[in-house]
Order: sequence, then structure tokens, then C-alpha cells
Amino acid sequence: MGKTTGFMEYERIEEGYKPVPERLKHYKEFVIGLDESQAKVQGARCMDCGTPFCNNGCPVNNIIPDFNDLVYHADWKSAIEVLHSTNNFPEFTGRICPAPCEAACVLNVNDDAVGIKSIEHAIIDRAWEEGWVKPRPAKHQTGKKVAVVGSGPAGLAAAQQLARAGHSVTLFEKNDRVGGLLRYGIPDFKMEKSHIDRRVKQLEAEGVVIRTSVFVGAAKDGLGKDSKVTNWAKETITPEQLNKEFDAVLLTGGAEQSRDLPVPGRELDGIHFAMEFLPQQNKVNAGDKLKGQITATGKHVIVIGGGDTGSDCVGTSNRHGAASVTQFEVMPQPPEVENRPLTWPYWPLKLRTSSSHEEGCVREFAISTKEFVGEKGKVKGLTTVQVEFKDGKLVEIPGTEKHYQADLVLLAMGFVSPVAPVLDAFGVEKDARGNARATTDFDGGYATNVPKVFAAGDIRRGQSLVVWAIREGRQAARAVDEFLMGYSDLPR
Ligand SMILES: Cc1cc2nc3c(=O)[nH]c(=O)nc-3n(C[C@H](O)[C@H](O)[C@H](O)COP(=O)(O)OP(=O)(O)OC[C@H]3O[C@@H](n4cnc5c(N)ncnc54)[C@H](O)[C@@H]3O)c2cc1C
Ligand code: SF4
Repeated sequence: MGKTTGFMEYERIEEGYKPVPERLKHYKEFVIGLDESQAKVQGARCMDCGTPFCNNGCPVNNIIPDFNDLVYHADWKSAIEVLHSTNNFPEFTGRICPAPCEAACVLNVNDDAVGIKSIEHAIIDRAWEEGWVKPRPAKHQTGKKVAVVGSGPAGLAAAQQLARAGHSVTLFEKNDRVGGLLRYGIPDFKMEKSHIDRRVKQLEAEGVVIRTSVFVGAAKDGLGKDSKVTNWAKETITPEQLNKEFDAVLLTGGAEQSRDLPVPGRELDGIHFAMEFLPQQNKVNAGDKLKGQITATGKHVIVIGGGDTGSDCVGTSNRHGAASVTQFEVMPQPPEVENRPLTWPYWPLKLRTSSSHEEGCVREFAISTKEFVGEKGKVKGLTTVQVEFKDGKLVEIPGTEKHYQADLVLLAMGFVSPVAPVLDAFGVEKDARGNARATTDFDGGYATNVPKVFAAGDIRRGQSLVVWAIREGRQAARAVDEFLMGYSDLPR
């Protein structure tokens, strides 16, 4: 513990944001990270608890008290070593993780939690600036070949761990660029894509072969483009080909099937899934030319769905110059402050206001959409009704129907499952929600019912968080390594 009385002397400092009018003009990141002296003071707030709940609350089990202490003592180089020992990509989580570690921090019982995420952010940005993040190729090759299918955070973490264990790894991706939802879901203003590109170079230097625009699936599914998810595949590789060429296959294809809203008028023009709208803007930011981009410019936009994806649609619509942005959430408005004695150390239910909400948005709660209305085939508005819980069920409140004007409706109500063809093509059993069936047990975890085929990340657990995907990618890499070698030195 760096400073015994730090938690009593210093207050939590939040990272800053550039002003709204300035940041709305572009798609770049706008968070102002802690400087060295601020990070040191924040590190000093850590109590180095005997039982560090933060470490347990963090899905990758970051060794948080140790790096807090190292930052307090200005030993940044050791701090990044500690951070990298549990997390392959702290620059992703330091930017976009909701930080369940902070909810679990012991200081959060009756004070403000240690600013763990801002310290993580400061450590990894400093490490890149100083040139401390270098490729770490394996010293020996095992001669075993592994195919990883899907290049989101789960696939990237798994590929890196497996290559470092000495296996020959090929990463297949149906999109034209690597990164999964980091690349084509999460907007650039939350995480610029140069962070992924830098890691891709590191992976390649560690021996990972990356093949983009390759759909892995049954020959009968063609290039897999019927699934209405992002897909720029130009080539199909079948499970039979992978099974022949590789000693193990790890499926990390995510859970891309968006939840639909099948109410009258759904077929009208101007109603789109969030995952049709958001990837297009990321492509344009990357310099691609798009024909007929879905834009919010000058439009009254309604975003249906109150979560992260919806909030990203709000931020993107405001950058397009929408006339108005309204976001609907079917659940009632949660309390502004959580009931800490009841919720700590778990993730609390409370009202979360994102930086995108602060940029301009009306938020409606306990509201359900009954129908879309249009003129000449184009959406012009929608009819809603207020809802409430009765006997554990959400029911409509009679007489609360209302009309909203809308020229663009974005559906951001979550994701139901992985896109089925890839699991069906391999013959992988699914659970009740359509995810790949595989446990996380110590022995035999991440293995599916199909010999030598494993699954990890959202394709196994359902749509989740980047930090959970990294955890599963790391753990699955260890499971594959054990399967191939009979033992594994990779951390679990
Ligand atoms: C808009 C949006 C915003 C989000 N914001 C956050 C956030 O702020 N913080 C956070 O922690 N989480 C966030 N999430 C969730 C997070 O992005 C996901 O949980 C995480 O990316 C899952 O990682 P994954 O590697 O399992 O899958 P994915 O990231 O979905 O990657 C799967 C990859 O596999 C590829 N693939 C699928 N099938 C095939 C196939 N047959 N052949 C070849 N390739 C295939 C896909 O093209 C994709 O690139 C957000 C999600 C969305 C949609
Ligand atoms: S729970 Fe909070 S105070 Fe305790 S070790 Fe973790 S970060 Fe430090």
C-alpha cells in the first residue's frame, strides 16, 4: 500500500471530456485522461485491501491493488507488466469497460470507488508512448495448428495467447477488417480504431496469420450474406476444410443476431437495426466510400433500446446533425443512486447517463412501441403506450397512447443469439438461447460436443462485454493448449 491515509486525504478525480460543441464536430475520442500526478494521487487512494473485491469483480481478475501501488510509486513499467499479465488489451478496457471492478471496490461501500479504469487507461497509454509494448513471439514452436474463427476481442485474445504458447494460429474473419464489434459496432468516438490496428501488427509479429473477408461455414450458405449482419466475405471455407488442415478450431464468432420489433409497419423505409447504422459510420471514418449511407442528418430520430448500443446510436445521430434524438427504454427509470448496502459488491441497478446522452437526447422510460406509421412507404412516426409491472409482467397502461414523429428509427434492443449457420455447419449443440453449448469448467471447459472444436466469447455466453470476451478468449486458449499438449503453462 503506497500511502496509508491516501483514501482519507484524496478525492476521486474523474477523467475529463472535451466540450460538447467541439466533440460533436468529429468522430475522434474526446476523453482527457489523467496526467501522471493525477494518476499517482488516484493510485494512493487504494487501501490495498486484504481481500481485494475489485480483483474478483474484474472479469479478467486484474491485479488492481498491485498496479495502483506501482503507479503511486511511479513505477509505470512494472505497472504495465502487472496489467498485461491478466489482460491482453488494456487500451480497449481502459476506454470502454463499464468497470465492474469499481462497483466492487471496498471504498465504494461508503465513499467514491478508486478510479481503477482511469488508472488502467493511464498505464497502457503511457506504455505505448514509451515503446514498452512489444511483440513477444514464442521461443519454441509446437508444430500444432489452430484456427480461430472471428476476430473480436475473444478471438484476438485467444489468438495471441495460442501464438505465445508456440502454436501456429490462423485467424479467420468474414468482415474486411479485424476487430469484431470493436471495429464495426463501437463508434470511433468511444474507441479509435488505431488501437486495434496496433495490436494487429503485434499479433502478426508474434506469428498469427490473419485472413479477412473469409466466411467460415457450410458451402450451401454461400458467403453467409443472407444473415443480414456485417459481412464482406469474398471466400468461404468449410468446417471440413478447417478440420482437415487444423488440429483444433476455436469459434469466437460473437452473437450478432439483432432482436427485431415485429409490430405493424416494421417494413417501412427508415427503420433499421443499430447494427446496420453504426458499422456504416465506422467504415466512412476509416475512409471507405459508401453508397446510400443511412444518415440522421436533419431527421427526427427515435432509438428503441436504452442500453449501450442505443447510446452509441444517440452519439452517432447527434454527430450526423439530427433534428432531434429520443431514446426509448421499455423498463421503468432506475434510481439515480444505487442502494449500496443492498448491491455492493455487485453491479448495481441505477440510472446511467453516458457521454452520448449528455450530448443531447430525450430519454423516455417504461414505454413500448405499438406500431410504426408511414406515408408512401416511409416511416413518419410511431405510436407508443406506457407500461408498468403487474404480477411480474410488463403490461400496458390504458389511455397512455402517444404519437411520436420519426424519420429514422434505430432498433437497439439487444442481440438474441449467434448467427446460426456457423454453429449448424460445425454441428455444434446450442443451449436454450441458441448459443454454443460449452462449459467454463477447469477440465474440458470451452469444448463443444464436436471433437476438437471449442467456443468462447459472445458466441458461447451471449452478447456481453469486451472484458468478458477477453477473459473467455484467454481461458479458451489455455483449454485448447491443454487439449493439444496434455498440459498448459498459459494462465487461466
Ligand atoms: C454497438 C455496440 C456497443 C458496445 N459497446 C460496448 C462497450 O462500450 N463496452 C463493452 O465492454 N462492450 C460493448 N459491447 C459489447 C462487446 O462489443 C461484445 O460483447 C464483444 O465485442 C464480444 O466479443 P466477441 O469476440 O465474442 O465477438 P464479436 O466482437 O462480435 O466478434 C465476432 C467476430 O466474428 C466474426 N464472425 C462471425 N461469424 C463468422 C464466420 N462464420 N466466419 C468468419 N467470421 C465470423 C464477426 O464478423 C465478428 O467480427 C457493445 C456491443 C455493441 C453491438
Ligand atoms: S477494493 Fe478498492 S481499495 Fe481495495 S484493493 Fe481494490 S481498488 Fe484498492
